[in-house]
Amino acid sequence: MKIVKVEVIPVSTPMKKPMIMPNTRIEAIDSVILKLTCDDGTVGFSDSGDTSSWYMGEMQGSIMSMICDVIAPRVLLGEDPRNIEKLVGKMDLLVRDNNQAKATVDFALHDLKGKLFNVPVYELLGGRTIAGAAMGWVLSAGTPEQVAAEAIVAHKQGFQLLKMKTGFGSVEDDIRMVYAVRETVGKDIRLTVDANGFWNYETALRTIRRLDDANLELIEQPLPHWDIEGMARLRAQVRTPIYADEAAKELHHIKDIIDRRAADGLFIKLQKAGGLLKSQRWLTLARLSGLPVMCGCMIGSGLEHSPSAHLWTSNQWASQFLNESIGPLTIHGVWESKDIAPGADIALNVPRFENGYTYPNEGPGLGIELNEEFLVRNLTKGKEARVVAL
Ligand SMILES: [Mg+2]
Repeated sequence: MKIVKVEVIPVSTPMKKPMIMPNTRIEAIDSVILKLTCDDGTVGFSDSGDTSSWYMGEMQGSIMSMICDVIAPRVLLGEDPRNIEKLVGKMDLLVRDNNQAKATVDFALHDLKGKLFNVPVYELLGGRTIAGAAMGWVLSAGTPEQVAAEAIVAHKQGFQLLKMKTGFGSVEDDIRMVYAVRETVGKDIRLTVDANGFWNYETALRTIRRLDDANLELIEQPLPHWDIEGMARLRAQVRTPIYADEAAKELHHIKDIIDRRAADGLFIKLQKAGGLLKSQRWLTLARLSGLPVMCGCMIGSGLEHSPSAHLWTSNQWASQFLNESIGPLTIHGVWESKDIAPGADIALNVPRFENGYTYPNEGPGLGIELNEEFLVRNLTKGKEARVVAL
C-alpha cells in the first residue's frame, strides 16, 4: 500500500461578517485542501483554515509550496500511509517549523488511515472518553457594550466559557470591556481574556493587576511568544492565572514553560502543534506536569475543525477541558451547525455543534464528505491547484 498522488487546492471561503483583530481584518478564509490518494484508490483529505503570517508565519502559498515541493516528493510519495509515526518523524527531520503545513499532512494521513481500517479517527486515537466536547465561545472584538451583548447571547446558547480579545481600542478600553462584560453576565460565568502577545511586560503587569478583581479564569498570552522568562516573572506578581498559547508550540517550548513555571495552563491548536500525532505527545507533557489544556482553533471549515473534535473526545486529559474550536460557526455566523446553509461549507456534513457542545462525525476517517462543487466555485483568485504524483 502506498501514496501515489498528492493534490493541494487553494480555497477562499467568504466570512458571513468580517473578523476584526489587532492589525487584521479577515473577509475570507484562505485555506489549503490536501488530498492524498493511495494506490488502491482510497483518498484521505484535510483542510488548513485561516493561514496567517502573524500567528504561525505560514500562508496559503507557503503551505502549498512546502507540501508540493518538499513533503510530497521527499516524505509521502511511495510511502505506506499507515505509518504515520514514521512519516511525521521524516517531516520533522526534513522541515524546520512549518507546523501548519505538517498538520495538514498529518490530518489527511489520519483520514486516510481511518478509511483504510474502516474506523473513525477517534478510534485510532484511543477510542471515546466522552460523547461530545464542551465548548467556549470567542467573542468578536468591539465596544464594551457590543461585547457584553454578545456575551449574554453566547451564554444562553450553552457556551460554558466566554473569551474576550484585546486590542480593539486602547488598553483602557480593554479594561472597560472586561468589567462591562463581567457586570453584564454576573459573577459566576467563566470569562477569559486573550492578549495574543500584544502587550509588553510593563503594560501586562499594570493591566493584569487592574483586571485581578474581574475574577477572570485566565489571561492568555499576555507577552510576546518568545518571552517565557517574562511570563514566569509576571505570573508571580498577579493573581489571575496566565496561560500560554503562542509561546507553547514545540515540545521544547512546553518543557521550558514547565521548567520555569511560566504558565498555569496551555492552549493548543492542532495546527500549531503540527497535527494529531504531535498533539498527543504535547498532551502527555501537559498531563505529566498537571497543566490544563484548552483547544483553540484557526478559523476554518467543518473539515478543518474535525481533527480537534476527534482528539478532544478521545484523549482523557484533553476531554476534561474545553474545546474552543468554533471555526465553522464563526465563518457562517451561527450558533449551531444546523443553521449552516446546505452546501455553504467545504464539508458537506459539518460536524455537529449543538447547545455549546461539539461532536466528531461517525464514519471512516474524519467522517467528512468533501464539497467538491464548493472547491471549484471558491478557488482562490489568481491561484491554481497543484498535483504531485509518482
Ligand atoms: Mg490565543
